[in-house]
Amino acid sequence: MTFSGWGRYPRLESRLIEPISTFEIEESLGGSGQWGPSIIARGAGRSYGDSALAETLVSTRYLDNFSSLTTSEHGYTVLRCASGMSLEKVLETIIPKGLFLPVLPGAKAVTVGGAIAADVHGKNHHIDGSFCDHVESMQVLLATGEIINCNRDAYPELFHATCGGMGLTGIILDAAIKLVPMSSLDIAQRTLVADSLQDCMELMDEHHESKYSVAWIDCLASGAAQGRSVLYLGEHVDEKDAREKSKSGRRGLRAIKRSELKIPFDAPSFLLNKHTMMGFNSAYYALQKSRGAPKRIDYDAFFFPLERLRNWNRLYGSKGFLQYQLAVPQESAHACISAVLSCVSHAGKGSFLSVLKKFGKANNNLLSFPIEGYTLALDFKYEDSLFPLLDKLDAIVLEHGGRLYLAKDARMSKECFRRSYRQWEQFAELKQKLDPRGQFSSLQSRRLGLG
Ligand SMILES: Cc1cc2nc3c(=O)[nH]c(=O)nc-3n(C[C@H](O)[C@H](O)[C@H](O)COP(=O)(O)OP(=O)(O)OC[C@H]3O[C@@H](n4cnc5c(N)ncnc54)[C@H](O)[C@@H]3O)c2cc1C
Repeated sequence: MTFSGWGRYPRLESRLIEPISTFEIEESLGGSGQWGPSIIARGAGRSYGDSALAETLVSTRYLDNFSSLTTSEHGYTVLRCASGMSLEKVLETIIPKGLFLPVLPGAKAVTVGGAIAADVHGKNHHIDGSFCDHVESMQVLLATGEIINCNRDAYPELFHATCGGMGLTGIILDAAIKLVPMSSLDIAQRTLVADSLQDCMELMDEHHESKYSVAWIDCLASGAAQGRSVLYLGEHVDEKDAREKSKSGRRGLRAIKRSELKIPFDAPSFLLNKHTMMGFNSAYYALQKSRGAPKRIDYDAFFFPLERLRNWNRLYGSKGFLQYQLAVPQESAHACISAVLSCVSHAGKGSFLSVLKKFGKANNNLLSFPIEGYTLALDFKYEDSLFPLLDKLDAIVLEHGGRLYLAKDARMSKECFRRSYRQWEQFAELKQKLDPRGQFSSLQSRRLGLG
């Protein structure tokens, strides 16, 4: 079968194995080595590039059982579940109990294993850090067939290499995740409009205490309007308001099931050109400018706005698209992002989905993406002429001390990776010890020189 990531570039013919128990994986890995040399775990395939692509894919689709909800001695609740459980299913299980996940990426199909392997971030990184900062422990199946239960004290090297390690240390079987209380399904959203990149960053700094913060950027606007943007700020509606709402007969804390629209076929890629994108961006900016009033929206619409358009990745045409997501330290963020936006608008290759978020402090995981500062994500439809532009963007990012997100990457060079992920050598040494035959490898890991 042919597989790809969410961006549909690149594609690879692979063998798909769908174990129904951890025992089955353990036997095959540790025993005869019958799965061959190039294996990688695959969750929901929501990473954009080639991190979940290899000759043999071990799907966690059927490893999706819920194990327990327990209250720790410190009073918080911990969920234990298998790694193939989607965040959507986790939310459906915990929301009726008044609990919520502390960090959510923009796609709810993402699995717990995928969220740990990429150490995903949400709109609240500046306050709550990334997904793995809330993972207490996990079981990892190594290439030897051994299962290790690791946490920050027991097998800490394995823990910090597996969090953000893109599946290269082994297969995460299950995890224990700290949950947070949630009193309402609603988010109070405020929308602020910024006329330039500088304004947007100043607004983000000014509203640093806002729990959730994310900006849509018009990446094709140039000159004085460069970086004009719409900033969305969100807070959970407070408990008292929530009780009043449920008394008045509105829905209680049940997870929301939404209807979805589906893109039935690949859109012709000529529809996405500089002029249609500039038209869309200008219209969107003008519309949001006129609609600044605060409003309450349900969590599903706030956290997963794109999910209502199922298969929206088909909008980029049959050749797919690439997402370029960079993180850059606070002190060089404006210069870097401004140079990137100039390059993109000059090339006329941007898109309508360009997102800016603030990052808080980095953690101790060897390959986790966030650096304290900002992150910018830009979508580009696939075309051969895109690659030289992305190489230019890499040079800008490196010059400013930044790096690219492995979960979105499909083409970064080994040199770029090594210059920006400073702990790569430590990771490679540990990988060599854990997996000397290099059984766990993906198209991405081979490109980046990680075996
Ligand atoms: C619409 C959209 C919005 C997104 N928004 C965000 C966002 O806001 N923030 C963010 O950080 N990311 C975001 N992402 C990216 C996504 O969260 C990550 O790529 C995530 O890793 C995907 O999880 P998955 O289950 O689909 O894993 P896959 O894509 O299948 O795999 C991703 C990586 O995880 C590894 N992996 C998966 N399961 C396991 C396992 N059980 N054991 C070991 N390794 C495993 C794979 O080997 C691979 O290296 C978004 C993606 C989409 C499509």
